[in-house]
Amino acid sequence: MASDTGEKVAVVIVAAGRGTRAGSGDVPKQFRAIGGESLLRRTLGLFADKTLCGLAQTVIHPDSTALYAQAADGFPLLPPVHGGATRQASVHAGLEALAPYAPDIVLVHDAARPFASRALVARAIEAGRRTGAAIPGLPVTDTIKSIDRHGFVGKTLPRDSLRAVQTPQAFAFEPLLEAHRRAVRERRDDFTDDAAIAEWAGMQVSVFDGESGNIKITHPEDFMRAEAMTMGQLGDVRTGSGIDVHAFGPGDHVTIGGINIPHAQALTGHSDADVALHALTDALLGALADGDIGAHFPPSDPQWRGASSDRFLRFAIERVTARGGRISHLDLTIVCEAPKIGPHRDVMRASIARIAGIDIGRIAVKATTSEKLGFTGRGEGIAAYATATIRLPWSEP
Ligand code: MG
Repeated sequence: MASDTGEKVAVVIVAAGRGTRAGSGDVPKQFRAIGGESLLRRTLGLFADKTLCGLAQTVIHPDSTALYAQAADGFPLLPPVHGGATRQASVHAGLEALAPYAPDIVLVHDAARPFASRALVARAIEAGRRTGAAIPGLPVTDTIKSIDRHGFVGKTLPRDSLRAVQTPQAFAFEPLLEAHRRAVRERRDDFTDDAAIAEWAGMQVSVFDGESGNIKITHPEDFMRAEAMTMGQLGDVRTGSGIDVHAFGPGDHVTIGGINIPHAQALTGHSDADVALHALTDALLGALADGDIGAHFPPSDPQWRGASSDRFLRFAIERVTARGGRISHLDLTIVCEAPKIGPHRDVMRASIARIAGIDIGRIAVKATTSEKLGFTGRGEGIAAYATATIRLPWSEP
């Protein structure tokens, strides 16, 4: 796909590392979760929008095929190619895979930098287009010293002329591919970034402004910082409440929280009368300030007759995720004299977790009687009270 100036822009995303320096055990760091989403999925999400880069080529390790498929699910990316023994070899593999498409500009980006912004990518494309080779750099704030092999200071380097270099780096495609091919021919495999290859090949490399938030995730503490950054992005914490009541009628079981519990009566209502899922749905809609279940699913509409209520809850969950939000917690209280809820508590939690697509540890189910008082006490029906806590991005109105 062409950019606004008619040229083809591609990106190589380097995700072939097997690095476990970040304390991830057996799972390479790019597949570890940050804020409920894998690091790689966050990075790929930046390039899933084709308005910046029309072609996105990921380079992975052959052992990571299944994990990659999960991370890239639903994104319009080229099929992944396998990397080599070094970062340099992996980038080269990505460039060769892009060669048949003959892009004009190529970005090279490390999967381990999931917080690069669209603005940074746009700056990279612009600088690459202008100079043919461009890298994002940040002024160095620490004093930098070179040391000798005994660990003693050799000298203090002049900070003004130093830059900490990031990715995405941007290049005219053909010269960068040719530089990589030449490096292979000349058996040079020691370049740690593409700018170094470009410099070696005689290209002039320009520097544009990097981003302090564009951190490279390498060590365990980087994951903690990244987690805090995603929480900061989802800092708009909201709480909603929901209440529902259904009356008993003839039947042999009740449906509560998506499970059937044998009982001498059933709950009556237009849908399956699942008081718990209805209260949870209203709690989520309340947290979103987005109407209520009756507004989205009018009882007058015959299509909801006998409907399984998991679709109502899923609808509310999708409204949260569509706004870039996450569900922190769902809390449910069921009020009835019978049937007994306690023995079904954990099955009900598992059922709600499955419907909502969140961890069971974020779902509480409690039950109480009303001491034979009121309609629940007289056994005329069941009431459910729910509280939903969600996080939305601060940019939300
Ligand atoms: Mg209801």
